[in-house]
Amino acid sequence: MKKKIKKIAITGGKGGTGKSTVAVLFANKLVKEGKKVILCDCDVECPNDYLLLGQKLKKTKEKIFAEFPKLNKNKCQKCGLCVKTCRNNAIFQAPGQYPIFIKDLCSGCGACWIVCPHKAIQPKKEEIGQIFVNKIKENYWLVTGVAKSGLEETGPVVTQTKKFVSNLVKKNKPDFILFDTAAGTHCPVISALLDCDLAYAVTEPTPMGAYDLNLILDLCQKLKVPAKVILNQSDLGNKKEIKKITRKFRINIEEEIPFSKKIVEAYSKGNLLKVTQNYV
Ligand code: SF4
Ligand code: SF4
Repeated sequence: MKKKIKKIAITGGKGGTGKSTVAVLFANKLVKEGKKVILCDCDVECPNDYLLLGQKLKKTKEKIFAEFPKLNKNKCQKCGLCVKTCRNNAIFQAPGQYPIFIKDLCSGCGACWIVCPHKAIQPKKEEIGQIFVNKIKENYWLVTGVAKSGLEETGPVVTQTKKFVSNLVKKNKPDFILFDTAAGTHCPVISALLDCDLAYAVTEPTPMGAYDLNLILDLCQKLKVPAKVILNQSDLGNKKEIKKITRKFRINIEEEIPFSKKIVEAYSKGNLLKVTQNYV
């Protein structure tokens, strides 16, 4: 019988709630229980799971590329069809002028070079990120996606990192894949959440935590990813607002993690591998 691999996202609407710490502690705990685990850091703009685990990103395992439009002015007839087609508003054209491509807004979707009737747009391949793999210990791997600095659209880097993990799965046959997402509800978070069996939304008992929890649970609902809540620093604030949100979405707080000096110390020393408390 084919082994069912559980894909779990560790996410959170707000930064600084301890999402990465929870992801690492969860992975540690599963490995301690004898499970095979791939932890995939999808916070590609500032991945830090490797730092929490006391690792270094060594040799690039794979480079990530994307295609962007390049105009051939000799062929362009200034018809404006590409401008009308681009859903990202990434093409600007002044009256009677050649179109100008705004790279920061371009997702590399390819619509413009497909529609151009004069074949005046060519796709140009560019590196947008890299993937690193660390074998932490027997049955424990860390995959880290890193977006090129300054890249605006980082969703494709997350998608490619997840694709890389699905190939690694064939070789290593893990029991769990944990995806540590970026904070927020933007494109790279959506890319990380897609296809997951479950999402743990990590939050803290503050008004800001409650506000952002509402956003992330709403996103999970829209993506049809079942969600559970983990309340970090649970003894340091007021849970009233958090409970209001969990009632609204008809879910319970799955786990409460009280403030722990031991975890804070291990976090600051990049020593979380040694912490195997049964929190999640
Ligand atoms: S669709 Fe092609 S020909 Fe028309 S403006 Fe765009 S690049 Fe030029
Ligand atoms: S590749 Fe897609 S997003 Fe980029 S300019 Fe062309 S149509 Fe717009």
